[in-house]
Amino acid sequence: MAVKIYYEQDAPIDALKGKKVAVIGYGSQGHAHSLNLRDSGIEVAVAELEGTDNFKLAVEHGFSPTDVKQACAGAALIIVTLPDEIQAKVYAGQIGPSLVAGQTLGFCHGFNIHFKYIVPPKDVNVVMIAPKGPGHLVRSEFEKGGGVPCLVAVEQDATGDAKQIALAWGHGIGGARAGIIETTYKEETETDLFGEQVVLCGGLTALIKAGFETLVEAGYQPEIAYFECLHEVKLIVDLMYQGGMSYMRYSISNTAEYGDLSRGPRIVTEQTKAEMKKILSEVTSGQFAKEWVGEYKSGLKKFNELYEKDHGSQLEDVGRQLRKMMKWINAKEV
Ligand code: NDP
Ligand code: MG
Repeated sequence: MAVKIYYEQDAPIDALKGKKVAVIGYGSQGHAHSLNLRDSGIEVAVAELEGTDNFKLAVEHGFSPTDVKQACAGAALIIVTLPDEIQAKVYAGQIGPSLVAGQTLGFCHGFNIHFKYIVPPKDVNVVMIAPKGPGHLVRSEFEKGGGVPCLVAVEQDATGDAKQIALAWGHGIGGARAGIIETTYKEETETDLFGEQVVLCGGLTALIKAGFETLVEAGYQPEIAYFECLHEVKLIVDLMYQGGMSYMRYSISNTAEYGDLSRGPRIVTEQTKAEMKKILSEVTSGQFAKEWVGEYKSGLKKFNELYEKDHGSQLEDVGRQLRKMMKWINAKEV
């Protein structure tokens, strides 16, 4: 089946015209959705924790943030842009109890709905608009007259027009200028978790660490190993981002290209792919979600231990020093 993509003419903003939209949490996504929807002529009520930096930011941007319950009252669409791990608690305490039939709950990622940490009543709509980029890009592209592609999904259609409401939201944040791709909560949630675990975050950091350690253990200088195994990743990724693997291979030397084509398959082997399948099954079965929610609830002990181990590693120490030599990279240290 061909992928379904909605553009502005297929995604009229009318479904939200004259209605109130609540945005819960003024962080990365929250601030972008609030500002873009307001600029698109929609009434936006923001909820934030009083006294926080993001509360102050919302005030600077001309909003009058309230508590969650007040923002949700009378809202046609409630957009939940809280961190995934706290959504269930805020929903249970401050959103769920006051929901009325016909309201629409909107999420930017399907985790809590798909794995049933949030189970809304049957008489409300449950939709998703998931921008394929961070909130700051969602805002800056909108200001330039463009938009970031989004995914749209409908989990519950209580009113019969849940998709129109979701598409109007996507339109209001600029997503329909680029295109809004249809998906499901299941597909978005599972592919998002798989991608970040296997390729984007987990796979990439493990690859960089193993390469760096191999060179250093063989007696090469860590500074040189850092450049080869971490710093230069960006150059290659930028080329792939612009033109896929073909353009990257067109741009690198023939020697590098032959090394890529002949050696890559020895690094990511059938065994690696078997492990990927196992990780995917842990995602689809809900085992990963359960483990992560348990880890969060029990105080993040393992999470912090794993983080500290890498944070204090030689790779990270060397990197902190070398980045000071490169003014143009806008080094960020945490
Ligand atoms: P952030 O952590 O950037 O923002 C969450 C905001 O919620 C913060 O401002 C936080 O305040 C605030 N907050 C926390 N607790 C409460 C509370 N009890 N009441 C009101 N406000 C509260 O989240 P993101 O924007 O990164 O993520 C939001 C959603 O968007 C998630 O579902 C995520 O998966 C999804 N998403 C994120 C993307 C991204 O690139 N960031 C991309 C696509 C989807 P404080 O900081 O003061 O604690
Ligand atoms: Mg993602």
